[in-house]
Amino acid sequence: MNDRRADALAPLPAQTAPPSAPITVQKSGPRGPGGGENRTVIARGAAAREGVGAAAGEGVGAAAGEGVGAAAAVGGRAGSDVPDALTLGKRIRALRLARRMTVGALGAAIGRAASQVSVIENGKRELKLAELQRLATALGTDLDALLGSASLSRRDELEIALARAQQGPLFASLRLGALPIRRSLSDDAIETILALHDELERLHRERAATPEEARRANTELRAQQRARDNHYAELEQIAADLLAAIGHRGGPLSQRAASELAAHLGFSIHYVRDLPVTTRSITDHRHHRIYLPIHQPGTDPRSALLQALGAHVLGQPEPSDYGDLLRQRVETNYLAGALLVPESSAVPYLAKAKAARELSVEDLRDHFAVSYETAAHRFTNLATKHLGIPVHFIKVHSSGAISKAYENDGAKFPVDPLGSVEGQRVCRWWSARQVFSVEDRLSPYHQYTDKPNGTYWCTSHIESASNGDFSVSVGTRFAEAKWFRGRDTSNRLESRCPDPSCCRDPEPALAATWAGVAWPSARLNSSLLAAMPDGSTTGVDKVAVVEFLERHAPVD
Ligand SMILES: [Zn+2]
Repeated sequence: MNDRRADALAPLPAQTAPPSAPITVQKSGPRGPGGGENRTVIARGAAAREGVGAAAGEGVGAAAGEGVGAAAAVGGRAGSDVPDALTLGKRIRALRLARRMTVGALGAAIGRAASQVSVIENGKRELKLAELQRLATALGTDLDALLGSASLSRRDELEIALARAQQGPLFASLRLGALPIRRSLSDDAIETILALHDELERLHRERAATPEEARRANTELRAQQRARDNHYAELEQIAADLLAAIGHRGGPLSQRAASELAAHLGFSIHYVRDLPVTTRSITDHRHHRIYLPIHQPGTDPRSALLQALGAHVLGQPEPSDYGDLLRQRVETNYLAGALLVPESSAVPYLAKAKAARELSVEDLRDHFAVSYETAAHRFTNLATKHLGIPVHFIKVHSSGAISKAYENDGAKFPVDPLGSVEGQRVCRWWSARQVFSVEDRLSPYHQYTDKPNGTYWCTSHIESASNGDFSVSVGTRFAEAKWFRGRDTSNRLESRCPDPSCCRDPEPALAATWAGVAWPSARLNSSLLAAMPDGSTTGVDKVAVVEFLERHAPVD
């Protein structure tokens, strides 16, 4: 699992890239402009001159104390197998020592000071092709031997790796002094430092990348949903076939009918008290059992069962990344919704309501005996495709943060710089937040909101879950409000978001009054920090799941 995650993170910037990249050595193949000859090009990066690396203190290698500062070159980028300056330096030193030459002698042979040879051997200076050739000659070898793939000693490899680590951003962020790589530093010590460095880096990347990846996947999925008006014909068809198979005649799907569906698919249902907390159901394919929690406050007991059946029907494998997980979740939820509120009976019901100008999410909820959220979801699935009404849907925590959102009516949700909606705070003047200040939580709340891109009508309702209160809102543009019950509301507010003066900045006078004397203590959002606790995609505790199955499996 961790390996797969590492793959998923691969596009992130490579750890070895120093802030400035002085040298790129490229060996062009037969396709080079030289007409087939093997040509070596040593390009000089413009940044080479400014390469005074803050992290690099002392010199790397035996000749410590020299060559302070210049960031070492990292070549061999873009998949090239040509050695970088550090590797090159190590090779030159190995060859020099093999020939029992001093740095002074080698320097004399190439017309350089001894200190310059050390700088080269430490990988701290770019080399021109002519210099490389002179070095090769002085060492009694040829260019290919210097640039070729002759392997380095383990010690040299370790020193190179440590030098690179010290030049990287992670080491710099730790604000540690540079560690001179002297002979007295044992191989074991270097290996330990490198292992710690790599693990720290892995953790950093995981932390930084997971929410990022999740938000990206959400944004992508929302675009796909918008493109199809949030209607999945193939899933509607699967739901219709399943319902036909158990002889369902339309209307609400009873708990008994849901059980019949499970039996039809060959599963027995087992309600248990000890379902692992990271799961909503567990399917045992060996014994054809579905385990469900006995008590799950605030949720429709049919939903978890239908979602488990949906995952089986759709043949979903374990998701390979967050995008996969999200797609699968959307599909199983969609299928569960399509079973609870079948298209074939919901569409005539809604069409009739539209004709009477009495469209209402509450009515849909009551007619099919589902949660408000399921009714709102189903409404967005069917409204554009079958009623010709573009809509938006938004689920918002009482803190104002968006947890789910969909639109094809041009509603502009708050977005972060990457275009993600989840976790962003909705304008306080929107219906989705105003509903929290309404005392009567049973009656539907309706509101017109004048937004920068036009006026919208919305209906909002609060649902309580184990992780807090959420408002679920469905809205549409002013022109379409005429089809809905509640269009005659007198609630009307203006939202100028994303203009910060709308609701994000306090009034200047108030801000001045309280400047420096208000000390709010923040509540950390634990779910954000613990996005994927074990680096897995789903966060499911696999140990707990296996133990659970062992505990409950019938004796074979
Ligand atoms: Zn606002």
